[in-house]
Amino acid sequence: MQMSATDKFEERRNRLVDHLVARGYVRSPSVEKAMRKVPREKFVPDHLAQEAYADSPLPIGMGQTISAPHMVSIMLEELDLKTGMKVLEIGAGSGYHAAVTAEIVRPDGTVFTIERIPDLVEFARKNLERAGYSDSVSVFLGDGSKGSQENAPFDRIFVACGAPDVPRPLMEQLGDEGVILVPVGGRTFQDLIKITKKGGRVTRESRGGCIFVPLIGEHGY
Ligand code: SAM
Repeated sequence: MQMSATDKFEERRNRLVDHLVARGYVRSPSVEKAMRKVPREKFVPDHLAQEAYADSPLPIGMGQTISAPHMVSIMLEELDLKTGMKVLEIGAGSGYHAAVTAEIVRPDGTVFTIERIPDLVEFARKNLERAGYSDSVSVFLGDGSKGSQENAPFDRIFVACGAPDVPRPLMEQLGDEGVILVPVGGRTFQDLIKITKKGGRVTRESRGGCIFVPLIGEHGY
């Protein structure tokens, strides 16, 4: 019997996740389950659907990219997400990273994601809708370097673009016991910085090198 297109994508997705587990990028059952579930082919332009399960970034238009699956996995593991959390993402792009995050925090949790390019806001909303995540992810147009004061405080905040430093508003919008992940450095190469707030104490550590497109905005470039 011939495999349907959906089954073929699922088989490729599972092979990719097997690889991410074997390489140590995916370590926890919750991240593994979410990565096996969210259909990345629904978050890339149609002509790139066949490339969706290569472990690499792909162009999504407007000079932007959907992040590589191993980078998404590294960030999900560092965030230590739990059901019920309220999460803010800066840089919605395709909506994929937000969808995998929502898969872990829903049904009680929610994801807010901000994108500065109007065409990508539409792209992310359409992708989230067709993949079944529009109930748990809200996409906003705006300068995410300022965060989202009206929806704060957040349990987790992650930035999917490279910043010159940790944007101050994000520090202010993080709840206690919260975590921020943000690539900090130059326009082409950054360090993934993890900020943890606990009992009023803030710690900052580097979690390794990464390459993201720049954060453009008041607290970015
Ligand atoms: N998380 C995305 C995904 O799953 O497809 C990939 C994000 S892409 C690497 C970075 C995104 O950040 C781009 O879409 C870019 O337009 C956006 N961006 C850059 N500066 C921004 C800002 N100040 N506010 C919101 N989005 C921003």
